[in-house]
Amino acid sequence: MSQHTTQTPRFRAFDERNFEQLSGFSNLNADDRFAIQVVSRVFPFRVNSYIADELIDWSHIPNDPMYQLTVPQPGMLSTEDFDKVADLLRQDAPPETLASTVLAIRTNLNPHPAGQVSLNVPQLSGDRLPGLQHKYRETVLFFPQAGQTCHAYCTFCFRWPQFLTDSEVRFSAPDSEGLVRYLGQHPEVTDLLFTGGDPLIMNARLFERYLNPVLNADPPMLETIRIGTKALSYWPYRFVTDPDADELLRLMERVVAGGRHLAIMAHFNHPREMAPPIVQEAIARIRNTGAQIRTQSPLVRHINDSTEVWRELWRKQVNLGLVPYYMFVERDTGASQYFRVPLARAWDIYRGAITSISGLGRTARGPSMSANPGKVEIQGIAWINGEKVFALRFIQGRNPDWVQRPFFAKYDPEAAWLTELKPAFGEKEFFFEQEMREIAAQAEHQYDEDEEEDQ
Ligand code: SF4
Repeated sequence: MSQHTTQTPRFRAFDERNFEQLSGFSNLNADDRFAIQVVSRVFPFRVNSYIADELIDWSHIPNDPMYQLTVPQPGMLSTEDFDKVADLLRQDAPPETLASTVLAIRTNLNPHPAGQVSLNVPQLSGDRLPGLQHKYRETVLFFPQAGQTCHAYCTFCFRWPQFLTDSEVRFSAPDSEGLVRYLGQHPEVTDLLFTGGDPLIMNARLFERYLNPVLNADPPMLETIRIGTKALSYWPYRFVTDPDADELLRLMERVVAGGRHLAIMAHFNHPREMAPPIVQEAIARIRNTGAQIRTQSPLVRHINDSTEVWRELWRKQVNLGLVPYYMFVERDTGASQYFRVPLARAWDIYRGAITSISGLGRTARGPSMSANPGKVEIQGIAWINGEKVFALRFIQGRNPDWVQRPFFAKYDPEAAWLTELKPAFGEKEFFFEQEMREIAAQAEHQYDEDEEEDQ
């Protein structure tokens, strides 16, 4: 294990209650400060001292991408919603009035997209397992209760309701007992993803408490353990100088030594996140454990919507030994109106970047929409029989048989999500839609039955 050269600076988190202590606070004018107060009533806000001191360029706010990534922006709410909350704050309205207005705004922002609640939560012996999601045959997502927060919150995050203190629906499991039993009954699952939030917000001992039962049960079909994390970007000291950094790395080594593939699904949105030497040291230490680091990010307006940024992102990742994995399309939830990039433009950015890097970086798939029926990738824009179309395919599907089947949508320069696309060639609907309705109806029926039983 390499020797580290740095001391851990003090981790300090900031939110709407104490952001005046941020190092760049003096760069914010009165309007900026009030807008942060307004928007953070609706969306979660958390930034930390490392991001404020090392990643944000305060001389370029508000356009600085790291500032856009971590500090709530006025455009994240419609003018109407912004004004509603702003007026209530100015009038010093009673908390319950403010809370009901905020709740109504959130409810209109599609808080649980892509069937996460109604379709993805699996059952075990007739009981729902709210800390698990099982959408694609081979992969189960596990949400450890203690890992349902992050070192900072990304403004665009599709899991934003997960971080609200008053959220009614939170995916989380108090322990991994249900997970182990579920894996025992589902030999088709080869991949287990620890997700959140950021599971690496947990200290090594706590993480081990969730992981050990799985390792001890040793499900024979389980080949890969993935950990979804943004700690490399938001708190790289986690792997280098935190008091339990070595313990965490030893845990990773143990997974690898047990014969399983350990995949760190690292989340980088902008090349600047990889520039600090501490990040590169953290990457080297993780790779020394035998784990592989794959990278993913959505394409987000105001943060990384340019070919140059993606070219640099993927080049740098290959240079550091990381494997570019996904360019996602921003999901249709929360502040997506502010962050969304039309699919046509997303395709241009992807193509421009992927064609200007070496073959080793061309492992990145995308632009991919994690939509209700599955992960749908844009394969290109083409003219077929005189019609301009998007060529599409499923990378993953609720029905595995949908995967890799090409299908086509009418070209629409403004469309930014699957539900905004229309089938090409005069077709009434896409090939999967009837079956998707049946799947949804079946799940709804089951959900209603469960609810009745619970009452
Ligand atoms: S780190 Fe990941 S889970 Fe946490 S806010 Fe950012 S995108 Fe969401």
